[in-house]
Amino acid sequence: MTIKLAIVGRPNVGKSTLFNRLHGKKLAIVDDTPGVTRDRREAAGRLGDLDFTLIDTAGFEDVTDASLESRMRAQTETAIAEADVILFLIDARVGITPLDESFAALLRRADKPVVLVANKAEGRAGDAGVNEAYALGLGDVIPLSAEHGEGMSDLYRGIAQHA
Ligand code: GDP
Ligand code: MG
Repeated sequence: MTIKLAIVGRPNVGKSTLFNRLHGKKLAIVDDTPGVTRDRREAAGRLGDLDFTLIDTAGFEDVTDASLESRMRAQTETAIAEADVILFLIDARVGITPLDESFAALLRRADKPVVLVANKAEGRAGDAGVNEAYALGLGDVIPLSAEHGEGMSDLYRGIAQHA
């Protein structure tokens, strides 16, 4: 069975970088539709022996006005509804922001497994952010570097326990 894996998180945490690292053949691009499906990308993904359909909830990195949070909320709610497992990314170098906290609040209420990933954790620059992320109340934190491919086996274990 193929599980649906949604990648959520505020802009610039590395969602698309992780999507690109995990995806194989592109399945579909959903765009030009106002609202929650805008710029959403789906693709087949694979990690070890796990096959999944990946959902990248990106597409509003260029939105800087006050609508950003409500649009992110809508996309996150869609991801919660559709996905079997949610990958929630934070930026380990920046640490936890108010936007991360509002995402976490949504995800804590969701009845879906969440894998909390502290991205950009290569080297030591992410250590403090990884520790901070435990305060989000979403369980274990997986340090990852989507860009450098570090932490992928821990990510595998994090996903596999829900697959
Ligand atoms: P998104 O907005 O969440 O989709 O984030 P992107 O995937 O577009 O990445 C935002 C920026 O973070 C880009 O400049 C990436 O190169 C950078 N980035 C992504 N993953 C990593 C990582 O593991 N380490 C570091 N240092 N930078 C990263
Ligand atoms: Mg993106």
